[in-house]
Amino acid sequence: MEENSKRIVIVGGGLVGALCAYYFGKRGYRIDLYEYREDIRRSKSPRGRSINLSLSNRGRLALRDVGLEEEVLKSAVPMVGRRVHFQNGKVQSILYDEFTNQCIYSVGRNFLNKFLLTAIESLPNVLLHFDCKLIDVNLKTDELTFYRCSSQDYLRVTGDLIIGADGAFSCLRRSLQSTPLFDCSQTYIDHGYIELRISPEQSHLMKPNHLHIWPRGSMMLIALPNIDKSWTVTLFMPLSEFDRLVYKEMVLEFFKQVFPDVIPLIGTDQLVNDVIRTKPSVLVSIKCSKLHYRDKFLIVGDAAHAIVPFYGQGMNAGFEDCTVLNNLLDKYSEDFGRVLEEFTRLRVSDAHAIADLAMYNYLEMRDLVTRPSYYLKKWFDKQMHRVVEDKWQPLYYSVTFTHTKYEVCLQQRDWQSKVLKRSLLLFGIVALSFSALTFINIT
Ligand SMILES: Cc1cc2nc3c(=O)[nH]c(=O)nc-3n(C[C@H](O)[C@H](O)[C@H](O)COP(=O)(O)OP(=O)(O)OC[C@H]3O[C@@H](n4cnc5c(N)ncnc54)[C@H](O)[C@@H]3O)c2cc1C
Repeated sequence: MEENSKRIVIVGGGLVGALCAYYFGKRGYRIDLYEYREDIRRSKSPRGRSINLSLSNRGRLALRDVGLEEEVLKSAVPMVGRRVHFQNGKVQSILYDEFTNQCIYSVGRNFLNKFLLTAIESLPNVLLHFDCKLIDVNLKTDELTFYRCSSQDYLRVTGDLIIGADGAFSCLRRSLQSTPLFDCSQTYIDHGYIELRISPEQSHLMKPNHLHIWPRGSMMLIALPNIDKSWTVTLFMPLSEFDRLVYKEMVLEFFKQVFPDVIPLIGTDQLVNDVIRTKPSVLVSIKCSKLHYRDKFLIVGDAAHAIVPFYGQGMNAGFEDCTVLNNLLDKYSEDFGRVLEEFTRLRVSDAHAIADLAMYNYLEMRDLVTRPSYYLKKWFDKQMHRVVEDKWQPLYYSVTFTHTKYEVCLQQRDWQSKVLKRSLLLFGIVALSFSALTFINIT
């Protein structure tokens, strides 16, 4: 590792900030990473948000490039497809990749975050500072102010490059919003989520190595496996529905009507207590028109593009930011000005595309998978992919198993939908003409 005298300040030691620090650390820069919370490796209380995440090819490549993939996969559970539980009790498996048999992986958020922090700590040129909350950014002097809760004092720092990986409600992004041409939109959806758990003892009732879904039109429940054989169950539904689940009887009645087969999996008491006790979390989507300011400030991960979680791509996209950044540093010989400008140019359109795709996938997961048209489309996708392999990549496949730019995945979906509609129309016309001719011949 070559030493580099430039100093990089990274704000946020979550998944993306930690991986980003590892990338820059490996390049020999002096890294200071400032994280608001205490060191999660020493804290007893687990962090909020999802307990496990699906890791797919974009995230895997980012880990592989710095030699971390193998270790992570050892502690992850492969998922080969969706296991759909219909309202009528029917259950059906849908493979994620019928073409090359690839899978996605369920990995624990805390495990991954701790693993990345330990990895960066092994680099001599990286310093971790916990309990440091960014509270102010001076864009004229390039100075950041952090507040340390334990000692109740302030810390002022600067660097040659300042990277904000401080999550969906990023303090650094808020400051950049005051700079020219930096637009940013924030959209809350009116659905929230709570997490429940199936214990390892009930695990035999779940088909392993699948992401289970209970689609119910306006809501859905999903379950991802954990390495200890338990399952993390997430219930997504309109916030107004959560508001109605106040008493034990209401919760039980709701589950009996909508998800009856889930009651024995979680256990009645556990289920009722957890639903009543847990406040639903909200989901937000953020789109920015720029991701940098001058050659000094950059935002990555959720700070740059928080998305709703229905494509399982938020972390993967954040990890891909690290790959893109690393490639640009190579390409522009570490000229930060050019790197940052190009990063914005490449990533804004991708971030917007995956944000839209993630919104769309909620509809697919909670509703479309129950409709015959979904299976017709899947069948059509499969045939087309067989015939013109590279030219026809089904949407889920291209997002999850390739490194095709998200923007291109979205464009492909749009023209493929047109082809599908026209083919169906043509098929309809031919079938109708054929019936008409047959009818004329008979009469
Ligand atoms: C329910 C749910 C399920 C999800 N499932 C998936 C999935 O299956 N696959 C997937 O790829 N993605 C998934 N995601 C998205 C994924 O969680 C995020 O994209 C990912 O965590 C982003 O990482 P990050 O490091 O950018 O942000 P964060 O994980 O939010 O980390 C930000 C860090 O910055 C710190 N911080 C915040 N403010 C400050 C401050 N002012 N000063 C200093 N530090 C600060 C925080 O403490 C935190 O440690 C899911 C998200 C949700 C909500």
